[in-house]
Parts: sequence; structure tokens; C-alpha cells
Amino acid sequence: MGTRVPAPGLAARAVAASGSVIREALALTARPEVISFAGGLPASDLLDVDGIRAAYDRVLRESPHRVLQYSTTEGDPDLREAIATRLARQGLPSRPENLVITTGAQQALALLTSTLLDPGDVVVVENPTYLAALQCFARAGARVVAAPTDDQGIVIEALTDIVTRERPKLLYLVPTFQNPTGHTLPAERRQAVARLAAEHGFWIAEDDPYGELRFRGETLPRIAAHEEAADRTVLLGSLSKVLAPGMRLGWLRAPADLCRAGVLAKQALDLHSSTVDQAAAARYLGEHDLDARLVPVRAAYGERCATMLAALPHVLPPGSTWSRPEGGMFLWVRLPDGHDTAALLRGAVDHGVAYVPGAPFFAGPADPATLRLSFAAHEPKEIGRGMERLAAVFRSNHRPTEGS
Ligand code: PMP
Repeated sequence: MGTRVPAPGLAARAVAASGSVIREALALTARPEVISFAGGLPASDLLDVDGIRAAYDRVLRESPHRVLQYSTTEGDPDLREAIATRLARQGLPSRPENLVITTGAQQALALLTSTLLDPGDVVVVENPTYLAALQCFARAGARVVAAPTDDQGIVIEALTDIVTRERPKLLYLVPTFQNPTGHTLPAERRQAVARLAAEHGFWIAEDDPYGELRFRGETLPRIAAHEEAADRTVLLGSLSKVLAPGMRLGWLRAPADLCRAGVLAKQALDLHSSTVDQAAAARYLGEHDLDARLVPVRAAYGERCATMLAALPHVLPPGSTWSRPEGGMFLWVRLPDGHDTAALLRGAVDHGVAYVPGAPFFAGPADPATLRLSFAAHEPKEIGRGMERLAAVFRSNHRPTEGS
């Protein structure tokens, strides 16, 4: 055999990418004896398995050749129509032509990133923010600028300074029941964000997978519903948290130009999202009242959240603080200075309980004393047991690291 020339290395963006800490933590916590508050999984016990099975049965029985065939990149016309109708009912008039069905909201985010961002473009995010959005922007070579938040989300004064100074192309927000904090941006701030986008000329990505999971308080208008920024707001939506994440269905709602560019980007990625899954989802939405289905889901999440909130004062070290979400799946904890939740995770898993350390959610300097808890996936009794285990972790580790 002659000389062997080594195959070329990976692309720079692949080398630069670090794995998801959450995925690694999830692997660690997959052991059945661990009560995991780590994953962002909706409750399996509340999925409408029968309804979803019936929808698949019907579309496979009635039009097998259509639903098992290739289809259009934009997505199933019935599903686009059904989503447009839902959005309109929720106060956001929408046309099917402005919707692209995606393989989860995650792909909507990837399409938006690849159609909008050149390397070096500035993206402003809430600090902390959704980890996989940070990964997406990093792969695109964007420069991410973190904007300060308080317990009501992004702080408008600070955001105004940042957009004036940095001239971002995009502002990425999860305004409702944010991942990871559970915070919700109040109406006045939504209005202010839309105004800033109009005055300073930037796009807004409004990522809203949790908005329909409200168990307390009043529904707020989406940022996309504000006239000032209607031509520059892209809404990312998902059926993952309201129907089933395994169907991998989401959407991008955007002005026509961006939809067209997104469709071309999607063609290169996966041609289209699964025909049969889209058809089943469209059938499900056509035959079931999803809002009525969500009533018990919201109530269960509210109860689970309340159970966790009631336990926290007895579980966490004195001086800890935490969010009080009005919906969604997550709450955010800050332990007193000197605690390092990443270092404490191993001990937690040894005690049979898990959470996600907060650090990876930060763009820029991280706060090591933070962590995210998901209350969605377990029934109250199990949450109670998990909280007892967490209390034991902090009892055996309650001293902050020396010198801090
Ligand atoms: N955005 C946010 C803020 C999320 O939390 C998630 C799911 N964890 C997604 C997008 C992606 O959701 P999916 O692809 O399942 O629709």
C-alpha cells in the first residue's frame, strides 16, 4: 500500500462546538432511581396517547399514499391552516402563507439563524437564555451580546443602551415562561421591545413554546402582535409542549421574504418535515379541541409548580432565591454566593435527584450559584420525594466554598 494521507479535519464550527451540558446531564440522570428535575420534558402521563394514535390511524387508513409520500417544504396545507386559525384565535391574525412547518421549533430557530445571520452579526439575548439558541448562534459565527434581566425578563433601559451601542441584527427572546428562568415579560416591556425594534431597525425572534401552558394570571399579547414591529418579528412556535415532542413539529411565522428564504434553507436541510406526522397533527387539531385538552394539563402543571414552590423554603440553603412562574415548566433558583451548582450535581445524583446547573445558560460570565428545576414531568408525590433528596444534598453540602 502507498502512503496514506490523513483525511481532512472537521469544519471549524464543528471543532468549536461544545456538547450540550444538558444532554450530558440527562445521560447521567437517566438511571431509573434518579428523580430528575433536569430535563425539559413535558409530562408523559398527560400526553393524549389515544387521541394521537387515532389521528395517525385515520390518516394512514384514509390517505396512505399521500401521507407516506414526499411532500412540500412549506408544510401540510391543513396543518398550516390549523395553526393560522389557532394563532388568530389567540389574538395574532395569521395567514398560512406566512407559516413554514418545521421539525420542531428548534429547526425554526436554525432556519432563522441561517437565513438572517452572517458571521460577526450581533445577536442580543436575555441573560440567561435557552442554551440551544446560544449553540445555534455560536455555530453561525454570530457575536452574542447578553442583556441583563430581572424577575420580569429583559430590562428595557439596559436593552436600549445595548441596541444603541451594538446595532444588533437580531434580538432573541423567550418572553413567556422563559427557559430557563420561568420569567414572563410584562405587557409594557413587550410594547417597548417592539418600539425599540422599529426605532433601531433590528429583527426580533419571539420564541414561544410555553405560552399556552399558563396556570396563573392573565394571557399577554405576543410581541408579534404589536404593529410597530410586525414586519420584523419572527414567531417560533411548537407542538412539542402542547401535543407531543416526539412528533417534532414546530413552525416559523414570518414576513413573506423570510419565509421564502427559510423554505430554501429547509430544502437543503431535510426537504420537508415528516408528511405522516404533519397529517396526523392536522387531523388531531381538526378533530379535537386542543384548548379544552390543555385545561387539565395546565392545572396539573400548576399543582406541580405549587408543590415545588412550597417545598423550596425547606430544601434550599438560607438566603436562596427562586422564580415564581405563572406557567411553563421551569423555575430558576439562586443559591447564596459561594455555591457552585455544577460541583454539587454529582452529589445530587448520588442522592437520587437531579437538576441542571445554571452556568451554561449564560452568554458571557456565568453565575455558578444558579440552577434550573423542571416541575412538569413528575406528579406531586414524586416531586415531594425528590425535594426531600435535594434537601439532603444541601444539608451535607451547605457550606459555601472557602474564600468566597
Ligand atoms: N425554544 C425553547 C425556548 C425551548 O425550550 C425549546 C425546547 N426545549 C425549543 C425552542 C425547541 O422545541 P422543539 O424543537 O421541541 O419544538
